[in-house]
Amino acid sequence: MRTGIGYDLHRLVRGKKLILGGIHIPYKKGEKAHSDGDVLLHAITDALLGATGIGDIGEFFPPDDIKWKNANSAILLKTVWSKIKREGWIFENLDCVILIEEPKILPFRNEIRSSIANILDVEYERIFLKAKTGEGLGIIGRGKAVAVICTVLLHEPIRA
Ligand code: MG
Repeated sequence: MRTGIGYDLHRLVRGKKLILGGIHIPYKKGEKAHSDGDVLLHAITDALLGATGIGDIGEFFPPDDIKWKNANSAILLKTVWSKIKREGWIFENLDCVILIEEPKILPFRNEIRSSIANILDVEYERIFLKAKTGEGLGIIGRGKAVAVICTVLLHEPIRA
């Protein structure tokens, strides 16, 4: 078994959509980013890459490469996961913490879980997430940013 950790942070600005795990969450602000800004999918992508030790999201999809401008993060995650799956890795579970002051994520939790399960083609029960506020403190608490920490567990390929 191998564990991987993923982290990402994006600024929250007006005029952008808040996208978490491929789901649009209605809110007055959204992630400022080069891509679609899906901070949750970026952290998951990095956790999967970290568990396997094959690289990180910045190496696979350089932010200064115009090819990834407005990139659909679900496609990036699918690309990475299919490469990892091809090598024989098996998914055990994923757990995520979304650090965001508002809005409340709980009403969207199961929709986000389904979306991630769908992107990875794994069972819904293997995906979990929760949100935490910043208690009004710092960049999270003042609503300036959204961040995600997640951890993934994979079974190593069985070598013949
Ligand atoms: Mg990112």
